[in-house]
Amino acid sequence: MTELLFRDDAYLKTATARVVAVRDDKVELDRTIFYPLGGGQPGDTGFLTRGNGDRVAIADTRKGETPGSVAHVIATGSALPEVGEAVSLEIDWERRYALMRLHTALHVMSCVVIAPVTGGNIAPDKARLDFDIDITLLDAEKIALGTNELIARGVATETVWITDEELDARPELVKTMSVQPPRGAGRIRLLRIPDIDLQPCGGTHVANIAEIGGIQVLRIRNEGKRNKRVEISLTG
Ligand SMILES: [Zn+2]
Repeated sequence: MTELLFRDDAYLKTATARVVAVRDDKVELDRTIFYPLGGGQPGDTGFLTRGNGDRVAIADTRKGETPGSVAHVIATGSALPEVGEAVSLEIDWERRYALMRLHTALHVMSCVVIAPVTGGNIAPDKARLDFDIDITLLDAEKIALGTNELIARGVATETVWITDEELDARPELVKTMSVQPPRGAGRIRLLRIPDIDLQPCGGTHVANIAEIGGIQVLRIRNEGKRNKRVEISLTG
């Protein structure tokens, strides 16, 4: 198990950790600030610094082979650290913060477009959600306006934990049909944006939706019978 420091504080840019396993080009640590690919949010990139001062680039972050572990993918050609070694970590904060802002923006937008979510993805420069909806009901201007009006409320986001049983009793919380929340761990993490959104999510979010600034709709496209895609970017 890797201690997931980003779960409690998504704003950690640096941390220290110890290497617990090295497999091929993947390094596992006892704790990490690197978010592993999941829920439509890409894995973090950055650096780890070894005791001898060498900086090793981390090209990607994935879930590890064992449940609850995180695999840091070392960039090709970098020397691998050794098991037991103490290292310091640094994420590419500019990239991650853009992902946090866009990720939180998708939560807000999912409350403007009222339809089941059938897919989604986040990149540092744009993000998208797919909806099961009649495409003629998707109006780019209205979606941007509605989303930006909610963002302007400037409310703080909250993390809430509930049990599997509580989630079973409230199936309406699961909007994203393609990404069911992980069960079996006994408890599920929710993101709450007071009076706007509440849904299971293990990703990283901004502390206050005002940090999103504003969004624009880049395009709306038909990607299949149940996938009408709305792509957005930040306006600043
Ligand atoms: Zn989320």
